[in-house]
Amino acid sequence: MKTYFITGGCGFIGSNFIHHLVENRLAGQIINLDKLTYAGNSDNLSRIENNGSYHFIKGDISNQKVVRSILEKYKPNVIVNFAAESHVDRSIDGPVEFIQTNVVGTLNLLHESHKWLKNINSSMEGSFKFIHISTDEVYGSLGKTGKFQESTPYDPSSPYSASKASSDHIARSWYRTYNFPVLITNCSNNYGPYQFPEKLIPLIIINALAGKELPVYGSGLNIRDWLYVDDHCKAIQKIIEKGRLGETYNIGGNNEITNIQVVETICEILDNKIPLDAGKLYKDRIVYVDDRPGHDYRYAIDATKIKREIGWEPKESFEAGIQKTVLWYLENKGWWKKIQKHKYKQQRLGITK
Ligand code: NAD
Repeated sequence: MKTYFITGGCGFIGSNFIHHLVENRLAGQIINLDKLTYAGNSDNLSRIENNGSYHFIKGDISNQKVVRSILEKYKPNVIVNFAAESHVDRSIDGPVEFIQTNVVGTLNLLHESHKWLKNINSSMEGSFKFIHISTDEVYGSLGKTGKFQESTPYDPSSPYSASKASSDHIARSWYRTYNFPVLITNCSNNYGPYQFPEKLIPLIIINALAGKELPVYGSGLNIRDWLYVDDHCKAIQKIIEKGRLGETYNIGGNNEITNIQVVETICEILDNKIPLDAGKLYKDRIVYVDDRPGHDYRYAIDATKIKREIGWEPKESFEAGIQKTVLWYLENKGWWKKIQKHKYKQQRLGITK
């Protein structure tokens, strides 16, 4: 059984991935290194905190000593790098942290794990893999047609996507220069349980439940491809098992939807589940607010490579996935109310020009 060194495992996708590993008994040991920034939440993993094969270490991926000591102590077979500053709006307000974690932190992980791998017994060398988790936002914005392929040139628009693009280039160079076993994934927008309430889907659900306005940026016509987080976790696991070293894999949900359609869908689900007073609808609370500076118009993923080479394709339709997601936020009010109390009160971010 493999030992997994996960970074950023207390965040949205990382915690879902750890649950996926535990529930499917895929890992011998799981080590989770997380700095617990505002977005990191140990409650996401409270179900498994007493599991003997799970080890949490609070720390920064940029810290050489911490990373080195984890490598030496646990001798992982796989590193999955989820740790990042991940919110575009926050990268507009405060870009420095994004460069520090996403670029310098990833560099540190690559550098330390490469040095460690070179120095250990060669039996480990053949099986070790470093999976760098990235985003489709590195490719920039599409017009009305076309899709991002793995060969699409990078053209990032925000400090967030520029920092992720930079870390992808660094990761790729570690393969090309040092033959260090890196694989990179570029994924579309995820949604599902444990997503921090600053992101569109949980923000709208929680605002709707609180009787607040439902803010939509600009015209609401920007298009994103939505992937249910469980499908993403399965794709990452398949890439660990079958992916070719040095390769990039695009991961998408085949669910291109405008932001306004996403918001209206959530409103319709809530109209059914928790109807407002007669004659009132949740969508009446939608308000159009100033657009995000540098807001990319459209993202769409061509995911034929991962299907052809690895046999993965998304299983969840948006209609079913969004139902499950709304239900999760309804059933887990304590989870997000605690965040609202201590960390984030649904305020608008990222309007600095
Ligand atoms: P998130 O913001 O929910 O979680 C990030 C986690 O990283 C948090 O637990 C945080 O505490 C931790 N972290 C931040 N800085 C750290 C540091 N210096 N050292 C250690 N831990 C640190 O993010 P997410 O949505 O789960 O995204 C995970 C990864 O997936 C990111 O790399 C992101 O770029 C990528 N991604 C996300 C999406 C999406 O839709 N959410 C889509 C594509 C790719």
